[in-house]
Amino acid sequence: MTPESRPIKGACHCGNIRFDLTWPDGAPEIPVRKCGCTFCRKHGGAWTSHTGSSLDVELGNPALVSKYRFGTGTADFYVCSGCGVVPFVVSEIDGVLYAVVNVNTFENAQDYAFSSSASDFDGEDTGSRLDRRQRNWIPRIRITAGS
Ligand SMILES: [Zn+2]
Repeated sequence: MTPESRPIKGACHCGNIRFDLTWPDGAPEIPVRKCGCTFCRKHGGAWTSHTGSSLDVELGNPALVSKYRFGTGTADFYVCSGCGVVPFVVSEIDGVLYAVVNVNTFENAQDYAFSSSASDFDGEDTGSRLDRRQRNWIPRIRITAGS
């Protein structure tokens, strides 16, 4: 983390999944993508990522975290079994983990400026989907399990 970057703290509702998102200072506005896929429509997922950011996740009790997959099966939605909240999603591409974060799980969300857009990637083929994630998703992720 550079001194110029902003750490953003977030968590699921019960606190079992916590994260620090380091956001580059050169990107004052946080873009929010309201995903139109079948899961996100039902769940109200609102995602953000920046290729200059990094994500540090701590799972309090990993046994209470389930990974949900659907569709192309190339992404894992981390769902807290304690409270049902989905703070982030990861996709492993060529051995590298990429992530997007649910802005609804930010703490102190009022401190940040968001810009919203809607998108719908249904029908996109798997190759284009993975390419897009590599271009846009958070490329530095650390997931540690409980203390
Ligand atoms: Zn929870």
